[in-house]
Amino acid sequence: MNDLRAGDRVHLISPKGRRYTVVLRPGGIFQFSGERVPHDDLIGRPEGITVRSSRGREFVALRPTLAENVLKMPRGAQVIYPKDLALILMWADIYPGAKVLEAGIGSGALTMALLRSVGEKGSVISYEIREDFAARAQENILQFMGPVPNLVVRLKNIYEGIEDGPVDRLLLDLPEPWHVVPHAAKALRPGGIFLCLLPTVPQVQQVVAALRAEPRFGFIETFETLLRTWNIDGRSVRPDHRMVAHSAFLTVARCLSPSEPA
Ligand code: SAH
Repeated sequence: MNDLRAGDRVHLISPKGRRYTVVLRPGGIFQFSGERVPHDDLIGRPEGITVRSSRGREFVALRPTLAENVLKMPRGAQVIYPKDLALILMWADIYPGAKVLEAGIGSGALTMALLRSVGEKGSVISYEIREDFAARAQENILQFMGPVPNLVVRLKNIYEGIEDGPVDRLLLDLPEPWHVVPHAAKALRPGGIFLCLLPTVPQVQQVVAALRAEPRFGFIETFETLLRTWNIDGRSVRPDHRMVAHSAFLTVARCLSPSEPA
């Protein structure tokens, strides 16, 4: 059974869609401007149940998805949006058992998506230059996933080199990934994948030029994704008025084997 248990982190979602995070404990009470919901009304009940507060307001109780958690968790750095996280996992071809290196850890959003996809047999190594971000991210990861023995965080500037090769995949979310291209060419295994996220066009030009100059990289592609949600309400069936119009350009490249002398 997958009923709600003590220790679970759940979202109580109000009729207006506001979300309150609660960690369930026996005897605990969720209180919000004079309203109360005893945790014991939730423990042992199925996920998705509706409970009534002391004022009669109805809340739906659901465990947050990773995407919901990413948007709600405390952020040190800007997180990667769920629409981009989804794309990264497929285009960087993250698979169970993979050894993945990323930089920097930021708030840990991508790290969590990677940890889920590599599974217990895989590993994630994360380089980060800021100690406060590394600590914040690890706290976020612990809260959402519990202890993760297959994550290694190194306080390290990846522009200066990579000491963890060979790796299967290398993912970069930092401002000047072209400095990493020469290190990536040595640290990625043949067939490995390089992926970086960048917010602006000049940055993309610079990283693509660096990848093209490095013979070990090929099949270089850059793309972006626009996610447009829709309003479906009676006869009002149309795109929503607001959207995130820009987040990042993704650039992907494949690591090839050094060519044999002719
Ligand atoms: N992908 C993260 C967000 C990363 S924000 C997430 O999903 O939450 C960019 C991070 O890169 C910041 O934490 C910054 O401190 C770190 N960073 C910048 N330059 C770096 C470098 N040269 N080496 C390692 N980390 C770096």
